[in-house]
Amino acid sequence: MKHLETLYSYFISFPQFALTWGMFFGAGLLTFAFQLYRNRRQFSIKEMFVHCVPFSPWTSKSFHMDVLIYVYRKFTDFVFAAPGVALMAFAAAFTDLALRRLFGDMSPYHVGYVATVICTIGIFLAAELADYVVHYLEHKVPVLWELHKVHHSADFLNPLTSKRGHSLPLLYGGAMAGMITGPTAGVFMYVFGISLVEAVLLKAVASKIFTVWTLDPLKHSHIPVSLGWFDSFLISPHMHQIHHSKLQPHWDRNFGTNLSIFDWLFRTGYRPAKGEQAVFGISGYSDNSLQKFNTIKGAFITPMVRSGRVLLKLVRPVPNGSVDVSSEPTESSNVGRSAPPL
Ligand SMILES: [Zn+2]
Ligand SMILES: [Zn+2]
Repeated sequence: MKHLETLYSYFISFPQFALTWGMFFGAGLLTFAFQLYRNRRQFSIKEMFVHCVPFSPWTSKSFHMDVLIYVYRKFTDFVFAAPGVALMAFAAAFTDLALRRLFGDMSPYHVGYVATVICTIGIFLAAELADYVVHYLEHKVPVLWELHKVHHSADFLNPLTSKRGHSLPLLYGGAMAGMITGPTAGVFMYVFGISLVEAVLLKAVASKIFTVWTLDPLKHSHIPVSLGWFDSFLISPHMHQIHHSKLQPHWDRNFGTNLSIFDWLFRTGYRPAKGEQAVFGISGYSDNSLQKFNTIKGAFITPMVRSGRVLLKLVRPVPNGSVDVSSEPTESSNVGRSAPPL
């Protein structure tokens, strides 16, 4: 019984569950009420359900796959995330040690409120930059795009879609986070005398604050909520929905996780107009072909095979004159397409 309870709380931590789904359904109800008021329409329970959940939880293959991937990743993420965490710890400790060797031990600045805020912001910025770089590369490098496509293959967005994705990105994402966030944490460990555990905790606290501030559960939803002026430095739900859109003006936009500052800095930001529609999916994929991702083979095996094929093509270029099967035009790719200028 105890084991069952532990397993249950591992999958569903109540405050998190209530906040996520409460926000998802609450935003649906609020926007429905607003539409009723604005259009002076009659209330209909059926319309309300369709507005709040515009896909059938019983028949939508995309939703079923989201659930399956969510459960699978709950069991396996720690295995794929472990090397990244180890690399980050190593890079932080190495940087701290290297600074000590170079400049000698210094009596660290007293860790007061100001220092805590500086450490939190610094480590959080580094983690967001690492996320941005990885996500940008996932769209631009064909080997990675084949794996990242799984996340974009959802034709309806719901809070579980945030976990929809292949496991391998945790390996290279963790490596990038280790290379950027680790040394940053190491500098703060040297200057302020904080421990590695404190550095990780500060980053976790900052992430929590920003996921609430950016209304994270709505990023994977159909409700186009903007954060108004805050869109200048935060990724709003509407901005992430645009990232999932297969419409040409939306390609390769808004790579940030919580912060939009790197998108503005590297000219990949896109602030949608009020009510601007996004069409979820992958450009070049018909509704039918998108369904291929909604099987275990389509979500886990095929992406690895296609990714491996692209990799092989890189290391073993096809000789002139022979027919290269893997270079046949595929149905899709964000890769190589350039975003229109702002
Ligand atoms: Zn993406
Ligand atoms: Zn997403």
